[in-house]
Amino acid sequence: MSIADNIKKIISTIPSNVKLIAVSKTKPKEDILEAYQCQQKIFGENKAQELAAKQKELPHDIEWHMIGHMQSNKVKYIAPFVALIHSVDSISLLQEINKQALKNNRTIKVLLQFHIAEEETKFGFAEIEALALLDSSEFKALKNVEVCGVMGMATFTENIEQIRKEFKHLKRIFDNIKKSHFSTNENFKEISMGMSGDYLLAIEEGSTMVRVGSSIFGGR
Ligand SMILES: *Cc1c(COP(=O)(O)O)cnc(C)c1O
Repeated sequence: MSIADNIKKIISTIPSNVKLIAVSKTKPKEDILEAYQCQQKIFGENKAQELAAKQKELPHDIEWHMIGHMQSNKVKYIAPFVALIHSVDSISLLQEINKQALKNNRTIKVLLQFHIAEEETKFGFAEIEALALLDSSEFKALKNVEVCGVMGMATFTENIEQIRKEFKHLKRIFDNIKKSHFSTNENFKEISMGMSGDYLLAIEEGSTMVRVGSSIFGGR
């Protein structure tokens, strides 16, 4: 199956209120263009410099999302144009994003990443840490970042009930934080969860953004 066929098939399974982020990391720009020609306009990458290089060479109406763990010193490469950073996992990263956003005279939208998997290797806040961040004066001083929701990655496992449980956990975190800190903010609305192997399950559990790579572009 071609990239075009894969995109069409996936789009036909996703409700219109869920956004498809086509994860193009490691893939050449020809592959991205093939997806773009099927009206796919949102792409996700996990490395800042690769993202910035692709942005320069590809159509400028593409919406670029950063989905991978970030070091603060890389924010500057994507700050001028990035549409959404899914992977914010510390106050220091958030402060650097704010600084670079200010430099570029814009506001950068972000999601808070939560650690919902069993694996220690995955990044992200615990709920209690994020609540402390949102209550802190450091956070309240940041005027050029906008927190639009939450992101998480489930454990890499065949056990569907475990994955479902982890997605439910992220949905519960979203609901709690929405209620406690964003009840009057309609821009806090995104739950980024679900990848090639589990995006339909994620949508059942309330995902608003699925990040799909290998089912579109093939293995890496
Ligand atoms: C690579 C990646 C994906 C996409 O994974 P696939 O299994 O190829 O769909 C989604 N989210 C993040 C954070 C990734 O790094």
